[in-house]
Amino acid sequence: MKFQIDAKDYAAYILRAYECIHAKGEYVTDLDLATGDGDHWANLDMGFKALAEKAQQLQALRIDEAFKEIGKTMMSVIGGSSGVLYGSAYLAAAKTAKDKTDLDERDLCEVLQAMLDAMMSRGQAQPGFKTMIDSLAPAVEVYRLCLKEDCTKEELCERVKAAAQEGAESTRNMEAVKGRASYQSNKGLGHLDPGAVTMSYQISELMDFIRTK
Ligand code: ADP
Ligand code: MG
Repeated sequence: MKFQIDAKDYAAYILRAYECIHAKGEYVTDLDLATGDGDHWANLDMGFKALAEKAQQLQALRIDEAFKEIGKTMMSVIGGSSGVLYGSAYLAAAKTAKDKTDLDERDLCEVLQAMLDAMMSRGQAQPGFKTMIDSLAPAVEVYRLCLKEDCTKEELCERVKAAAQEGAESTRNMEAVKGRASYQSNKGLGHLDPGAVTMSYQISELMDFIRTK
């Protein structure tokens, strides 16, 4: 399995992710109304809209600089916990990709790992806390396994995507340790975590994009 993605590719992925997230407004907002304050989708959608409007600018950058710009934009445009978490994640991605023009299949795994580590450290959260981490963590784990097993690109994309989706689905049976759902008496048990669901959309879009590379 071999592929390479540069800032132009990443900008193309951002446009796809924005389209996907934008279409899920009602569904995600309803999820967040059940366990949070209902603003998760609106915040994330605003962030991705700002990124989509910057797509031309992002394309022209080196990939690490594009990650830095994405991080700064997310930090300033997306409110709430997600803004800080995604902002920190992309700034960590920029550090990991430092001075690179493109990312190969191994570099992308390291970038996703850095994003996960940054989110866990900034949010003081672990897998199992009913957050967006519960979608990203299994996706990174399976990605690493696929590299080890030298899977085909198609297999990698399929398995990572499935891991992210199953991870999001697994939040239904979790009691929240972090985030607003943890303030509820039943800790959100029985409900999907909206942040995990939107994370799974992003990972799915990234994998669908890589499949076309
Ligand atoms: P807020 O709770 O500040 O309104 P958002 O609505 O932007 O934040 O995002 C909510 C999502 O953020 C949750 O569904 C959860 O996935 C994620 N989240 C909240 N707190 C944390 C945390 N401490 N660590 C990781 N993720 C978190
Ligand atoms: Mg919220």
